Amino acid sequence: TYNSPFPNVPDTDYAEVEARARSQQAFEKVRQQLGKTYFPIINGKFEPTAEIIDSVNPSNPTEIIGKVGLISIEQAEQAMQAAKAAFPKWKATPVSQRAAILRRAGELMTQRRDELAAWIVLEVGKPLVEADAEVSEAIDFCNYYASEMERLDLGSSYDVLGETNRYTYQPRGIAVVISPWNFPLAIAAGMTVAALVTGNCTLLKPAEVSTVIAAKFAEILLEAGIPAGVFQYVPGKGSKAGAYLVQHPETHLIAFTGSQEVGCWIYANAAILQPKQKHLKRVIAEMGGKNGLIVDESADLDQAVAGAVHSAFGYSGQKCSACSRVIVLDAVYDKFVTRFVEATRSLNIGMAELPSTQVGPVIDDKAQAKIKEYIAIGKEEAELALEMIAPETGYFVPPTIFKNVPHTAQIAQEEIFGPVVAVIRASDFEEALEIANGTNYALTGGLYSRTPSHIQEAQERFEVGNLYINRGITGAIVSRQPFGGFKLSGVGSKAGGPDYLLQFLEPKVITENI
Ligand code: GLU
Repeated sequence: TYNSPFPNVPDTDYAEVEARARSQQAFEKVRQQLGKTYFPIINGKFEPTAEIIDSVNPSNPTEIIGKVGLISIEQAEQAMQAAKAAFPKWKATPVSQRAAILRRAGELMTQRRDELAAWIVLEVGKPLVEADAEVSEAIDFCNYYASEMERLDLGSSYDVLGETNRYTYQPRGIAVVISPWNFPLAIAAGMTVAALVTGNCTLLKPAEVSTVIAAKFAEILLEAGIPAGVFQYVPGKGSKAGAYLVQHPETHLIAFTGSQEVGCWIYANAAILQPKQKHLKRVIAEMGGKNGLIVDESADLDQAVAGAVHSAFGYSGQKCSACSRVIVLDAVYDKFVTRFVEATRSLNIGMAELPSTQVGPVIDDKAQAKIKEYIAIGKEEAELALEMIAPETGYFVPPTIFKNVPHTAQIAQEEIFGPVVAVIRASDFEEALEIANGTNYALTGGLYSRTPSHIQEAQERFEVGNLYINRGITGAIVSRQPFGGFKLSGVGSKAGGPDYLLQFLEPKVITENI
């Protein structure tokens, strides 16, 4: 069936002088606010905390973006009780009112989009064009899930003579949202507003390194009119407050995006029935990928090289959707590698806030060390084709390409989450598909080809949640490319798609004998 397109908001066109001027002003304004302290929001109030950490600029870690108060276990419990108290009223709030709050939040983000993009650039080191696209995605999630809930709220009727049957949806209860740092606004907002619009009281625990941008989003939700207790912003340590909320008997649902390790921990622990718990928990977990891009002998190499560079090195490879394996057919292998290396060599590496930057830093020192370790492993397992030079200060890792990588190598199997690519050789298309499918993950994948039979085969057999043909494999757009994978890439339905909200709801059928 064909659905009329959802009206996605446009990204900023930085070719326009006014757009660049607005962005520059936003950066100046944000810079004046650096280093402020952000406290959790529990039951509508900012609550001071005993523990405070610094969130720093990954391009220049001496620059403190904000100081962030982390909740204690007692405060996590207070938030849980406030959510419980607020639930009956929120559940009874008409969908039209809940949807209106989301749309208002979308409007507020639109008004503040330059400022929000600047916070993203500074707090997580994402270059401006991508940070701006992320703001668009967050706004789209608000508008899209508002409309989706209105659609679901219509319910269905399955009446027969003498009997009415109404199929409706009700909220589950209390949702714990655990959001990642790599899309600190879009994914935090997407999971949170989905949980809210479906009538659940929601606790947002953002990744520690991106808490300031999450605080900005929390401010926006409050300004949009979300009632106290219905939404609470609870930054904290994943291993303490996060774990406590996951295991809490009052939690009904956990929406998580992040590493496979944490996702599997949540899935297992959410399954354990706690004393006094009267329901089973639902887990939605979007985890990693080891996404492959196949380039066959008929591919347009200009397009394939550009698509691979963008998919592999955009946001320094720190997207779940990023390309970390390019699987190239023998006939074009050497030509592709030469061109891929040269195109990558031309990328500008630098501080995320510089307009000329194409590749910024990685998120923190731990990520930097781990990625560098993988580069060292790669040097043992395969041939180094390119290792660029990265700035000394800041958490930079040089874009790195390995060639002739055995498909079973560690760097061809494990998610590195950095600017490191394995180029693998395949003797024919069949082998390329087998290699592509030969990991634990199934998130995104791509094919560059002008051979109809290969395109057909890929559609049928490429095991990924999102398959891209003759284009890059990142940058899914709300409603146009609902996003998510299977195998060990995650559990649950696609974000920004027509089945997503169903996961936050409990269906109910009412039959009346008349
Ligand atoms: N939706 C993003 C994309 O399509 C990736 C999200 C993620 O990294 O979790 O690029």
